[in-house]
Amino acid sequence: MSGKGKKEMIIIGAVMIWGLLLVILGLEVANRRCPSVNERGNFSCMQVAVETLGQDREWDLSVTEMPADWREVIEKRVFEVERKEISGFNGVACFDYAFVAADLPTAAKRYVTAHEALHLVDYRLSETQVNWKAAGREPLGMMQTVFYSVYLGVRQAGKQPVASWPCWAGRMWVVFKVYFLGGNWT
Ligand SMILES: [Zn+2]
Repeated sequence: MSGKGKKEMIIIGAVMIWGLLLVILGLEVANRRCPSVNERGNFSCMQVAVETLGQDREWDLSVTEMPADWREVIEKRVFEVERKEISGFNGVACFDYAFVAADLPTAAKRYVTAHEALHLVDYRLSETQVNWKAAGREPLGMMQTVFYSVYLGVRQAGKQPVASWPCWAGRMWVVFKVYFLGGNWT
């Protein structure tokens, strides 16, 4: 590579890094000015559990020891539900059960199912720990989940006024930090 070409590469690289830093700074500023992100919102575990597992709540009393093997957990404790039943989330872990949105694409559903099962096996694991563990089992599913979630998010944001987009972007950044960088919801 000629001296000139090399210099151009360095300048392009520096501009890209500065651009990225500015974007992150913008997202952080957006977060400070936007309503704080609450993972669950006013989602009710009890409601989805009763609707899916039964009104008589026998499931509540019959809970025996959680299987140590996550595949057995998937078989016995993870249920598919309509996305609207779980407030638009991909999946949630509630009590000793988990619920996964039925509309997820195939690989993404496998990933979310593994993810929620891992929460059930060990509630102490952070979102980031669970995410990477599940990604180790379903790497393609994780990628598909990310793309599908962004797609759903963009579609949702498209229906909102333009003025709300910075807060939307800030929220996506918080979600990214929680799932990949060990961040908190607040
Ligand atoms: Zn999770």
